[in-house]
Amino acid sequence: MLMVISNKVDRNTIELLSKACELANRKNFEVSLLLMSAIQEKLEQLKGYADNVILMISKQFEVFSLDPFLVNAEMVVRKYRPEIILSSATTFGRTLMPALAAKLKTGLTADCTELDIDEKGNLLQTRPAIGGNVMATIVTSTRPQMATVRPKVFQINPPTKQKTKFIFEQPIFVADRCELIGYKVREEEAKIEEADVIISVGKGLRRKENLDVVYKLAKFVNGAVGATRAVVEAKWLSFDHQIGLSGKVVKPKIYIAAGISGAVQHLAGMQTSQTIIAINKDRYAPIFKVADIGIVADAYSILQQILEALGDE
Ligand code: FAD
Repeated sequence: MLMVISNKVDRNTIELLSKACELANRKNFEVSLLLMSAIQEKLEQLKGYADNVILMISKQFEVFSLDPFLVNAEMVVRKYRPEIILSSATTFGRTLMPALAAKLKTGLTADCTELDIDEKGNLLQTRPAIGGNVMATIVTSTRPQMATVRPKVFQINPPTKQKTKFIFEQPIFVADRCELIGYKVREEEAKIEEADVIISVGKGLRRKENLDVVYKLAKFVNGAVGATRAVVEAKWLSFDHQIGLSGKVVKPKIYIAAGISGAVQHLAGMQTSQTIIAINKDRYAPIFKVADIGIVADAYSILQQILEALGDE
């Protein structure tokens, strides 16, 4: 069995299930989703994406806190004994999966960008290594084989399973070591993971004040603002905006790279975008190797000209 663990039915879960079905169909494995949630919703969307949906519904899963999820996930895994366990490399997966791997005394490959399966049923887990300079393919010698996968690296395929069985498992109530005394939902700008258009800036934008034109343009095209690590380190933008190896992976329809050199660590987060437009004053900048359209010019003045052409006063 190949098991996907999630706490919600969202795009990431369906992407991962699509890949899980593709791999499992080759080995005749069953695909199961362990869904741990406070409410039973959007289940219709899962039909055809798994042989089994194992549902654990409990109020204690309303807000993510490790203890209740860990105890209950371990219980289900020990009962169903999957060969492979996958989860998205979101806060949920990145927190739960290492703790679960430790409980099961097995290995975990974090932040994979590609998965495959060989004839023996070994999961081939590929991820950037050595500062993003090589793509390493890792095979786990212990069982179960566990991996987290970056969101947006797999496409959503049409459902392939004839029947999806919904199984209810009774969760154990776990007295949490953390007490939630309240929380505030952060007012986010357009999320870069979901935007169709991203205007991403590098140090070639020259100064923080020039972000003004970037935000205006993003608003015009209903897009989001991304950044390189250099920009985040310079405190022009928060870490939420960082795209790349140690930031987010994005796959928008249009990616505008303004004043970005194109270091491998940045490319790891955006090179699968549909159309890449690069603006850099250095014609030999590596970003042009992945760009569909290249403009050798000052980034700020090009963005300003686009804005003016769109009708901004
Ligand atoms: P620079 O490399 O300084 O490039 C600026 C570019 O702007 C140059 O190409 C220059 O020609 C151009 N330019 C200058 N003036 C202008 C102008 N007026 N108009 C137009 N162009 C101009 N980086 C990330 O982005 N994301 C990551 O997740 C990430 N993770 C990393 C993880 C590790 C382990 C390591 C070691 C590094 C990581 N980095 C990451 C850093 C990465 O190696 C680069 O340092 C970074 O991406 C460079 O950012 P930049 O392109 O903004 O700056």
